[in-house]
Amino acid sequence: MTQENCYVCENPVPEGQSFYEDHGVKVCLNCFRTTPRCKKCKFPSNALEIYPGLGAVCEFCRDAMEDTGMSCYLCSKNIPAWMSYYADYDKTVCQECFAEAKRCFLCRFPHSVESVKGLGHICEFCHDDVIGPEMDLVPFLQPIQAFLKKLRHNPPTDIKFQWVDWHLILGMQMKEPPQFKINFLDEFLHYSYPVIYLKGQFYLIKRMRRQLFLCHMAGQLAAADLCDQYGLQHLQGETPFHALARGWSHWVAYTIAGVLKYQTEQKQLSRWPEAREEEFQKFKAMSEFRKAKEIVVYGHRMLADYAKKYL
Ligand SMILES: [Zn+2]
Ligand SMILES: [Zn+2]
Ligand SMILES: [Zn+2]
Ligand SMILES: [Zn+2]
Repeated sequence: MTQENCYVCENPVPEGQSFYEDHGVKVCLNCFRTTPRCKKCKFPSNALEIYPGLGAVCEFCRDAMEDTGMSCYLCSKNIPAWMSYYADYDKTVCQECFAEAKRCFLCRFPHSVESVKGLGHICEFCHDDVIGPEMDLVPFLQPIQAFLKKLRHNPPTDIKFQWVDWHLILGMQMKEPPQFKINFLDEFLHYSYPVIYLKGQFYLIKRMRRQLFLCHMAGQLAAADLCDQYGLQHLQGETPFHALARGWSHWVAYTIAGVLKYQTEQKQLSRWPEAREEEFQKFKAMSEFRKAKEIVVYGHRMLADYAKKYL
């Protein structure tokens, strides 16, 4: 029978006496009683080191924790397993860098390569993938123009864009200020569209991903067409017709998001803005068991009826 020594005092573990065993080594009962223990694994060790947010940690746990193979995308330092970190785009960012970072308004990533007045910071991942005031957006609209025709809409082709501060767009759509502070686009979308049609112009926030733009633009092109058909300047009014028309336009945006297979945007449109019209839910429920054609006939008939009654 082999006699193993105690890992702590290095004396032989007395025969017949129980001992503590972990990490492949033994510790005698005496050492086990008197040696401070690791916060993480309870191992008795004289080589404990204090880790912030974790406490005294033994050498075995330290080895396991340090070797994560993860490093910070921004400062390149190793990210130990005990430290929390931010992860997105297959990148990890350490706590320290995160604390100092300017975060992207569009996606929250903690690094900024551009600051846009009236919008916020933009990260490198969003930077090359967003639309902005210097771009000609009309060619992007072609695929949705064709689809809008199928939904029996004839939206304007001479389109005027107004790029504005997002606070202004929010103000156009909310009667009262939001209950929560808005720091990022996803929070903004809880309350507001990023594109809104008003008096012959399309107002939009200064940067957004093309996918988001296309879905919302589809809804607002439908809204513009309804304004044109029924002689309105916008759909922000209080009558049941306005509510129905807003619900319909929202359904158009939601449906086109589905056609284009923009799952993230479609999911957002099914939940946000929080104050979206009930009529949208009805059209959405219908589209689960009816063909688009039937809903189009029904939707336009309802709009015409409501216009007669309420406008
Ligand atoms: Zn011992
Ligand atoms: Zn330990
Ligand atoms: Zn870092
Ligand atoms: Zn971003």
